[in-house]
Amino acid sequence: MKSRIALLTFSLFVQTAAHAQPAVAAEVFADTESLLPPAGDWSGKSESLVVPANDPWITPAERMQLAATPDYAETVAWLQKLVRAAPELEMVSIGRSLEGRDIWMVVASADGAFTAEAMRKTGKPLLLAHSGIHAGEIDGKDAGLMLLRDMTVAAKRKPLLEGANFLFIPVLNVDGHERRSAYNRINQRGPLEMGWRTNARNQNLNRDFTKLDTAEVRALVRVFRQWQPDLYLDLHVTDGADYQYDITFGGNGRDGWSPAIGNWIEDVYRPAVNEALLANGHQPGGLIFAANNMDMQDGVLTWKADPRFSNGYGDAIHLPAVLVENHSLKPYRRRVLGTYVLLAESMALLAREQASLQAATNSDRQSRPQSVPLVFARDESQAVKMVPFKAVGSERYHGAASGGEVVRWTGQPLTITIPEIFVNKPVVTAQMPAAYIIPPAWGDVAGRIGLHGIEIEQITEPLTTQAEIYRLPEAGIAQPTAWTPNPFEGHARIDPGEPVRQLIETTFPQGSYRISTDQPLGELLVLMLEPQAPDSFLQWGFFLEIFTRTEYAEAYVMEPLARKMLDDDPALRTRFEEKLANDPAFAASPQQRLMWFYEQTPFYDAQYLVYPVARIPRQQK
Ligand SMILES: [Zn+2]
Repeated sequence: MKSRIALLTFSLFVQTAAHAQPAVAAEVFADTESLLPPAGDWSGKSESLVVPANDPWITPAERMQLAATPDYAETVAWLQKLVRAAPELEMVSIGRSLEGRDIWMVVASADGAFTAEAMRKTGKPLLLAHSGIHAGEIDGKDAGLMLLRDMTVAAKRKPLLEGANFLFIPVLNVDGHERRSAYNRINQRGPLEMGWRTNARNQNLNRDFTKLDTAEVRALVRVFRQWQPDLYLDLHVTDGADYQYDITFGGNGRDGWSPAIGNWIEDVYRPAVNEALLANGHQPGGLIFAANNMDMQDGVLTWKADPRFSNGYGDAIHLPAVLVENHSLKPYRRRVLGTYVLLAESMALLAREQASLQAATNSDRQSRPQSVPLVFARDESQAVKMVPFKAVGSERYHGAASGGEVVRWTGQPLTITIPEIFVNKPVVTAQMPAAYIIPPAWGDVAGRIGLHGIEIEQITEPLTTQAEIYRLPEAGIAQPTAWTPNPFEGHARIDPGEPVRQLIETTFPQGSYRISTDQPLGELLVLMLEPQAPDSFLQWGFFLEIFTRTEYAEAYVMEPLARKMLDDDPALRTRFEEKLANDPAFAASPQQRLMWFYEQTPFYDAQYLVYPVARIPRQQK
């Protein structure tokens, strides 16, 4: 057996050598960190959170000076030991990954309330945080382990757990976490080895919150539904530009689908967390996206996340959700300690501000807006707002390898004033219908909608009613229905153009799904079913079948029928002759000419390009 393996290895090597470019010496890649912009010196009060080397409850990452992170097995083993020792903790598996790993969640309650129901009875607010939705961005895991210890066996932060309950998922993308390497995130300064962004099937979990393809996000959405957290934190690490801020975070803005929650995050959460981070030597900032995708010269964008993202989904379902992005160029130790401070302050703040947060959440859950913004764009009419920004120096140079302009970050801290550009103007809006109807043939879509906790009713008899239907633009004519060239997240994304809405009498078969918008997740429903919503099931390619025409007319019958139509209808003849004169490609194509006639007969497929999901207008409740 051994020799066969050796032979196989050898032949693979020969094949690779024959097809690949000559290998670059491994030493070239041994110290890519030295190519990163300078990290600068840092020390802060949060360093005192690290326990001494002889502490019996030292975490695996602390044992490695917060320069490395433990693998799945070591993480889970350490947590199991902690849970056995701490009466305040339990651990539950919320689901399994494609490779069969449990996705663990630590349930922390000072009252020993380890079920959702028992937890609600404590009357205390509930914080849910997870790390590793992108498994290479794992700071939150090692911070959470330290905090769980300090709130329990170490007894240093017990009051935090007296004031609020805590659910902690150390790693959501458990399979990606085990694709460990020193070469996974070239722009990130540590840990030494880290996991991979996507799951075992190369799916990006943080694009999956509406379509719910993945076991991991389905498990998380079950946690939202079952445990009903008051605040949800999704812990990441950035890619992109350099600046002084080490911990950046935010919700989905003030003017999204949950405006009261958006204001609470900006006016209550942000100042408190900023203060805690500053007091511990950190440099907090808002979520930062360079307008030119390169440096800060053209300002920063504050964009609205679509509901495929965790923070956009939170906004759509009225779950207070904060996206945390630690700065990838800051050393791992500094990022982990900053995350600890943010988690601890979130617990403390929840205890203090439970009433104000619940008031904001209830206000958004109870609102029933008349219309829902689907797409936001930059408001060009708004005066540009200039804001101070803690930048680091940068210069641009011509790259000999790229042949283009490249940024070099100098590491020099400087405060500059730059434009803050808001991408918050609704440019496509949908009127809220009373309900949507999905025919039974598309039950898979209704099933996914049900996973979100949206109430669905199945009609037991055929229903004839006035309904609004969307007809999509004919491919190749008027506004072409454009297909994105590459698959995205395992789907063929489609651009529906500008569909035409018509009110017609329609009969829906028995077994159709009627989904009222008059429920707390009404906005999410609109965002999943309106054709022009970027995260609609239509745009995600769940209705690809409607783009195929399936009946045909043979020329031997269409030719005589077309001549008969021309003879009987002078207006049709005029239109035909105009088209022949103005459209040479049409005139030259026998198929196109006969198709033109076919489309105007009752034989033509009336369902072709009709979006099967119908709207019941509001006045017909
Ligand atoms: Zn991320």
